[in-house]
Amino acid sequence: MPVSAQLFDRASSVIPGGVNSPVRAFKSVGGTPRFIASANGYTLTDADGNDYVDLVCSWGPMILGHAHPAVVEAVQRAAVGGLSFGAPTAAEIELAELIVERVAPVERVRLVNSGTEATMSAVRLARGYTGRTKIIKFSGCYHGHVDALLADAGSGVATLGLPTSPGVTGAQASDTIVLPYNDLDAVAAAFAAHPGQIACVITEAAAGNMGAVAPLPGFNEGLRALTAEHGALLIMDEVMTGFRVSRSGWFGRDGVAGDLYTFGKVMSGGLPAAAFGGRAEVMNQLAPLGPVYQAGTLSGNPVAVAAGLATLRAADDAVYAALDRNAERLGGLLTEALGAAGVEHHVQFAGNMVSVFFSDRPVTDYATAKASQTWRFPAFFHALLDGGVYAPPSAFEAWFVSAALDEDAFDRIAAALPAAAHAAAAATPEGSRA
Ligand SMILES: *Cc1c(COP(=O)(O)O)cnc(C)c1O
Repeated sequence: MPVSAQLFDRASSVIPGGVNSPVRAFKSVGGTPRFIASANGYTLTDADGNDYVDLVCSWGPMILGHAHPAVVEAVQRAAVGGLSFGAPTAAEIELAELIVERVAPVERVRLVNSGTEATMSAVRLARGYTGRTKIIKFSGCYHGHVDALLADAGSGVATLGLPTSPGVTGAQASDTIVLPYNDLDAVAAAFAAHPGQIACVITEAAAGNMGAVAPLPGFNEGLRALTAEHGALLIMDEVMTGFRVSRSGWFGRDGVAGDLYTFGKVMSGGLPAAAFGGRAEVMNQLAPLGPVYQAGTLSGNPVAVAAGLATLRAADDAVYAALDRNAERLGGLLTEALGAAGVEHHVQFAGNMVSVFFSDRPVTDYATAKASQTWRFPAFFHALLDGGVYAPPSAFEAWFVSAALDEDAFDRIAAALPAAAHAAAAATPEGSRA
């Protein structure tokens, strides 16, 4: 029995489902998750010693590739200086300054420990600032496992086909208005139906948690205009896109300014840290300046901050150019292989995030994502894995490139793709691995 399978058995007797985050369990693609022993550059090495070209990048953060020397060195140096102080440090200011410098609408930042905490805090702040209760979110967008934001969520909630989660109370859910992504008329109608009650609209600046689904031209601009008109705040969730799709995230691509922003993933370089920020006037409502409470024992942790600082400092224009180039090249290879195998598909981009939809039409929202032939995905995924390419184990997740991908990596991807494309073409709705 492979070591990964042995570890999964052992894990399953002490950890629910054997994993600490649901999508890792391979439930929707079948088979046994690979337990990772180490990673370097674009390569993941599992517990059996198999190497994979990594197209997940820890779900986004590892834009520089794994174990980047500058990041590892910064983390080691920080660790030697003490792991946590529960008191402010100079490095936290440097990270906040870097974020403010890169994302113009962000004037004040607070560090937290996860993207979930960032969106939870941003929503609380929006409610505190406006004195209103209702919030608007979009189907298929994922904002972490915040109670009020789980309704019709993307990521693992989509992968497992859950409408929402038991444990979320009716009150928490009923203050959340869930609308179709890319549908401005629906947003306008919701504001008309609930005058003076909507605190904020939260959106992924470009959706990546139902697969890569970019906002249609004018959608983010329309959200900006509608929220401003109705006195609500616009929360741009850039936990996934921030510092990945450009040096200034999605804001660097479309220039639409939110009132509040959430960041995570890339900004902490693979360690647990995240942030929320925005206009000073709003952020200054936070304790200790204002009455909206928000705190964290490990917030601004020196080791996590060191990883974030080193990652952002290394992420220069050349890195962003490489990410865009690599995403385009990956998309080209996917299109070529799937086209040659004659399987209906759309390769989509949201900046340098990539998705494969087995669909006869472009995917613009959660309904069209769910209407795609997701049953083709498990066979496609497993053939890639067998060929040494680690794609996300879900039809509803974006694929993430790193700047570390080189000619050898692309040769391996190109070599693995034809068999995977044929497996996708041969798949049947009944035959998908459960
Ligand atoms: C990953 C993600 C989150 C949640 O971040 P965690 O660190 O997993 O809690 C929130 N929003 C978006 C857009 C994400 O992609």
